[in-house]
Amino acid sequence: METLTEIKKRVFLFGDKKADGNSKMKNLLGGKGANLAEMSAIGIPVPPGFTITTEVCTEYNTLGKDIVINELKESVESAIESIEKTMGTKFGDSENPLLISVRSGARVSMPGMMDTVLNLGLNDQAVLGLVKKTNNERFAWDSYRRFIQMYGGVVLGMKPHTKEDIDPFEEIMEHLKDKRNIELDTEFTVQDLQDLVYDFKDAVKKRTGHDFPTDPWDQLWRAVMAVFDSWNGDRAKYYRKMHNYPGDWGTAVNVQAMVFGNMGTNSGTGVCFTRDAGTGENVFNGEYLIDAQGEDVVAGVRTPQQITKLGSQRWAELAKVEEADRAENYPSLEELMPSIYAELNEYQQKLEDHYSDMQDMEFTIQDGKLWILQTRIGKRTGAAMVKIAMDLFKEGVIDEKETLLRIEPNKLDELLHPVFDTKALKRANVIAQGLPASPGAATGQIVFFADEAKKFKNTILTRIETSPEDLEGMNVAKGILTARGGMTSHAAVVARGMGKCCVSGAGALKIDYKNRVLRVDGKEFHEGDWISLNGSTGNIIEGKVATMEPELSGEFGEIMELSDKYSTMEVRTNADTPKDAAIARNFGAQGIGLTRTEHMFFEVDRIKAMREMILADTVKGRKHALEELLPMQRSDFEGIFEAMQGLPVTVRLLDPPLHEFVPHQLATQKELAEDMHISLAAVKNKVAELQEFNPMLGHRGCRLGNTYPEITETQTRAIIEAALNLKEKGIVAKPEIMVPLVGTANEFIEQKKIITETANKVFKERNDSIEYLVGTMIEIPRAALMADKIAEHADFFSFGTNDLTQMTLGYSRDDAGKFLNVYLEKGILTHDPFEVLDQEGVGQLVEMGTLRGRSTKPNLKVGICGEHGGEPSSVEFCNKTGMNYVSCSPFRVPIARLSAAQAAIKAKA
Ligand code: PEP
Ligand code: MG
Repeated sequence: METLTEIKKRVFLFGDKKADGNSKMKNLLGGKGANLAEMSAIGIPVPPGFTITTEVCTEYNTLGKDIVINELKESVESAIESIEKTMGTKFGDSENPLLISVRSGARVSMPGMMDTVLNLGLNDQAVLGLVKKTNNERFAWDSYRRFIQMYGGVVLGMKPHTKEDIDPFEEIMEHLKDKRNIELDTEFTVQDLQDLVYDFKDAVKKRTGHDFPTDPWDQLWRAVMAVFDSWNGDRAKYYRKMHNYPGDWGTAVNVQAMVFGNMGTNSGTGVCFTRDAGTGENVFNGEYLIDAQGEDVVAGVRTPQQITKLGSQRWAELAKVEEADRAENYPSLEELMPSIYAELNEYQQKLEDHYSDMQDMEFTIQDGKLWILQTRIGKRTGAAMVKIAMDLFKEGVIDEKETLLRIEPNKLDELLHPVFDTKALKRANVIAQGLPASPGAATGQIVFFADEAKKFKNTILTRIETSPEDLEGMNVAKGILTARGGMTSHAAVVARGMGKCCVSGAGALKIDYKNRVLRVDGKEFHEGDWISLNGSTGNIIEGKVATMEPELSGEFGEIMELSDKYSTMEVRTNADTPKDAAIARNFGAQGIGLTRTEHMFFEVDRIKAMREMILADTVKGRKHALEELLPMQRSDFEGIFEAMQGLPVTVRLLDPPLHEFVPHQLATQKELAEDMHISLAAVKNKVAELQEFNPMLGHRGCRLGNTYPEITETQTRAIIEAALNLKEKGIVAKPEIMVPLVGTANEFIEQKKIITETANKVFKERNDSIEYLVGTMIEIPRAALMADKIAEHADFFSFGTNDLTQMTLGYSRDDAGKFLNVYLEKGILTHDPFEVLDQEGVGQLVEMGTLRGRSTKPNLKVGICGEHGGEPSSVEFCNKTGMNYVSCSPFRVPIARLSAAQAAIKAKA
């Protein structure tokens, strides 16, 4: 038999403002154990306890339980003795029992791996001691029945494994409720709880064949072993596999004294924050209740009181409570227990200083003694996040780099879009969930058709999916909701560009256009009914929810300035209109990385000429229609160039399949036939002719320009003439003409020839010239493979990762919503690849395309203009790849600026 020969420390004590360990020992003590030790070591009064190390878990699994338990015995017994001494209680005592909690704690947090066992040490004698201590019979017996239930579930394996399994304890409780004709647990009497304890023990005996363990030591050892066993449970193994955590890490076991805030008027419990988590203001704040347990503070049955006098006064003002009433009935902890408050105030300062960040703390006062149960980095709103980081920087607590790393890029979104009033949100009824396609909050009345988006003052355009024809309606609506389509569906991309709230791909919605009804989960919503969308979570909410406009603080600008100081990549924007361009410049965009010219053709006066161009049977007919479009495009480009004032503007030539532009409804087809003086049948024929089985892989991108060169000619002319017109006005324009969907070098060479010939022609006509570039998108896998050949001719590459993802994974951008959710739920995919760049797969093509491109043209300018250009982890990847810029929708520009800075800081670290 193997033995433990090595003499090592296996049990680490903490408490009494001392500790054997510290926060650097996470690998040995687990995250929780290391933090408890750290708090205790810096003089914070945490309830005493001990941690059995993660190494013991590994020994337990390799050498067997008996050897390990035997080895631990002495140190655990002396550790319990030490806890007893600090608490003045005794394990299993019927007068003054020590109760403990047993928890797992790996080096990283693994939520749900193993539940906690509370109140361990209770038995038929100790419960009487608890009654005496708390003077609360109901509480004591309720704790006892909860303990058996928890212990039975976690340690004795009686917890249901599947949804179909019956929880034996719940069954007993339900049975008793039926018998007593009551509904809630809180309605149980002391007698009921005593009966439950009896019945629970009976159930344990029946299920396990043994009596419920009454010896506290027996309870403890079994709980410790259950924690170790849980490390190799299915849940933990699955979680480790998903996150690539090795099995030999092991989990620690934390055993800690329980403290009670419900032991009379000299006890209490509360939660506090070192700064305001909502606004970031540097004020200590929080809530507490006298003679209560932790859950009472959050349960909202009793009104919690404020910790500070200032907080209490502010609360009274809002709650319209008179000062005298407040002081008497809702005094602050500062007023009620000044010395406890002073002590708490000292600890909150100490903890914030120690961790250099805002802390969220839980505390309990047991019979006049303050215990800090937990401290952690406090969650905060976007506004608070920015203010706290900047304040800590100004206070000299953190340096510039750390300040930037403290900001979560995606959370900046909250500062840019309207948000729901958090109080109103608490009462909201969520009817379904879609993808959080474009952040923000929107409340409005349902309309089902884009041309009816003005029917009410505030509308939510509700569609199965949107198409370019819906553009104007989307612009007017407050929010956009679709039943189909993913994160790069038409609705999502366009909405993000507009900074408009959008929830897409909500598969549970059944939209009946004919009857103008939205059905979901057995409910019906008609045109005009109010709904609300949360574009940041994907929630679809019934009725109105109050929204607020965000206010951009001075700190926001300071963070952006600091970002630019550290980032090495440029941030450009995807913008199709002067308005979007101006918004993006305001957010600090350093150029335009993508102007999708097709969006310009959908406005009422243009779509007609566009359709005439498409329906024309001859080159002459097409040219005629293009001539009509030319001045309109030219003035669009002038507007955009002017808005960008000398910054580079990448204009992409026409990209989508033509059938997206032709009318599909009979009435519009008739109108077009009349306008063009042709028969309705001819229009219908042409529409049918343009229909493709796979339009995304069909007649689109540079295939249009190569089959109809006159389109490329006209667009180039519009771009060059616009730039020359501005030059005359003294405004510099820097166009970068971009050819879409190139797969072979020849496709690009052909287009470039037309572009340069046209530009030269215009220069000659005008007897003037401007500088411009001609480059291509890399969005077909073959283009990435052939990048060296293409780069010989191209001035720049821009990775179109929307199409590149679509074509590399073979997932349709517009249909992936049907299976992506299931893939994400099952863990087949960890992220939506249209949202977060698939670095492992698609990323290889991006890296390869960049490397190969630069192998023939070392100074090749490389950027990204797919939706990933505004997603933090993808931006970091682009930085690593050596890109010159990322380009994203206007409202994501600040996120990309910060992400680029963080990427640069991390790259140098
Ligand atoms: C892309 O494919 O990544 C891209 C930017 O083009 P679009 O989304 O217009 O196809
Ligand atoms: Mg594309």
